[in-house]
Amino acid sequence: MFQGGYLGKILRVDLSRRSVSDMDYAEELRRKYLGGRGIAAYLYHQEMPSIVDPLGSANKIFFVTGPLTGAPVLASTKMQLTTRSPDTGYYLCSNSSGNFGPYLKFAGYDGVILEGKASSPVSIIINENGVEFRNASHLWGRKTPEVDDYFKEALNGRKIGVLSVGPAAERGVRVACIQVDGRSFGRGGAGAVMAGKNVKALVSCGTKKLDIANPVALKEYVSQARAKVRQFKSTHTTHGTAQYTEVINELGCYPTRNFQTAIFDGIDTISSTYMKENYFVRNKACYRCPVGCAQVCAVQDGPFKGAESDPEYETIGAFGGQCGVSDFGAIIAANQICDEEGIDTMTTGTLIAFAMECFERGLISREETDGLDLRFGNAEAMVEMVRRIANRKGLGNLLADGFLHIKKKRPELEYYMMHVKGLAFAQYEPRGFHGIGLGYGTSSRGACHNVGGWTIRDELIAKTHDRFATRGKGRLVKTLQDNRAYVDSLGICTVVRGALGFTENPTGNALAYVTGYDFNPELMMIGSRIYTLERMILNREGIGKKDDILPRRIMEEPLAEGMAKGRVVTAKMYDEMLDEYYMARGWDDNGVPKKETLAALAVP
Ligand code: SF4
Repeated sequence: MFQGGYLGKILRVDLSRRSVSDMDYAEELRRKYLGGRGIAAYLYHQEMPSIVDPLGSANKIFFVTGPLTGAPVLASTKMQLTTRSPDTGYYLCSNSSGNFGPYLKFAGYDGVILEGKASSPVSIIINENGVEFRNASHLWGRKTPEVDDYFKEALNGRKIGVLSVGPAAERGVRVACIQVDGRSFGRGGAGAVMAGKNVKALVSCGTKKLDIANPVALKEYVSQARAKVRQFKSTHTTHGTAQYTEVINELGCYPTRNFQTAIFDGIDTISSTYMKENYFVRNKACYRCPVGCAQVCAVQDGPFKGAESDPEYETIGAFGGQCGVSDFGAIIAANQICDEEGIDTMTTGTLIAFAMECFERGLISREETDGLDLRFGNAEAMVEMVRRIANRKGLGNLLADGFLHIKKKRPELEYYMMHVKGLAFAQYEPRGFHGIGLGYGTSSRGACHNVGGWTIRDELIAKTHDRFATRGKGRLVKTLQDNRAYVDSLGICTVVRGALGFTENPTGNALAYVTGYDFNPELMMIGSRIYTLERMILNREGIGKKDDILPRRIMEEPLAEGMAKGRVVTAKMYDEMLDEYYMARGWDDNGVPKKETLAALAVP
């Protein structure tokens, strides 16, 4: 039925046996789950036991591209993974840009499944002529940019995609990410899973052309979409996602000092304008992206001189407002260490903010910090803590395990841990706009603003919804989650989805021109199906209504200043939103999908 976009097979790599096989990727599955996140969730549901050690050999990683990944469409760079998270202990979905997905498709595969464990460090090279295991002992301990450079040279300058783990993952840091050509599968610790399998890198370097059902119509359509991108391209290109820093702070929603306040007094020197004027070096773009939102920044002087990285909104928030740090150079340095060592910036910053509050309250002693003065605003201490987390040194060894594991060891600190289901909060304050709180509470992977629903547009920018209301938020969040779930399955970046017509009311033709099949009438249903399948996985792993909650601070401590002054999301308010959400989803009062819902969505 499909005339393009898919290859129809997924590569299965059995690391224990050092063998590979092709898995047929049935058309019926593609119709039901589209690709990317949908198929990765389906495979996880089919193949993973309900109890598994995330760092053990029985865990698997399912990497899956979408039908648009690698196609001549804007920002067709994305790939998804699912695995059992060592950070949260349950299902993890994660997406990344980079070249790996496109060049994997050019090698003839829609995805890769990693299972078992190699007996010694390996790298795996995938091209259209086969799969090669290479000894990676000499790469073990090397930082991720060095691994990228090594393969560029080793493969004689061919066009490649490299997916690698850094030294932190090798040390079992549970918030370690997988780096992908300078981007990352950031949240949830997938890097520790891959390193636990003794895999240092996957390299894709295919050269085959993708079949496209209607290349002439696609070219014309994409050129029109590119013109639409130009309309919003300016701020995204000139300031990246950092553009939200000033806006979110002005609206009183900027997480500050571990969510103790929502306005940061040091905003002027971490704003996107300040970044641009003082640190900006160049833009960086992902595969086939005309936006190039990444802002590469460098530090010319001061204690962090020489540091270079491309911090985006979340990273600036985590190391800036959250840690009370107003030195942008420190943020660039912290980001660089995270990228090189391979740890998630958002989670790392939020863990350090938590430790800073505990330190200031005398709950973590100076002895535990080995003399480090871990007060809010101490930029050098913050950067040093990033190093210690990556190296599992001192207090860093505790923080490296993530909130759920810290809670087991230090239950008396729980009140100060800002997470849902173990995943650290993103950099938006739910007391300042309540829909984002419901998104954090119900997201398939914990407190995530993307998977949970990016309500910023609806509540703060376009203001189609009263940000402090509870009514309507359940339906809004469900709609945004379903939209995101299908976009995550396409293989394109969410930033260009509007220009391509992949909204809540899909109108775009790109998918039909690539595959030869008009998915549009079914896309939102597919999104809902994916979300419901993910919920079934979570239910199977013991996650339910008891876990769809927010930290007590959000429910009990009113904000003291700013436009959201006095605001709190009480348990009653939260329950109103949650009840509406469960009803909109067709889940019962315990957050379990009803039989009729499963039947209507044809979920197994
Ligand atoms: S908009 Fe930014 S994140 Fe998205 S593909 Fe383009 S450069 Fe990458």
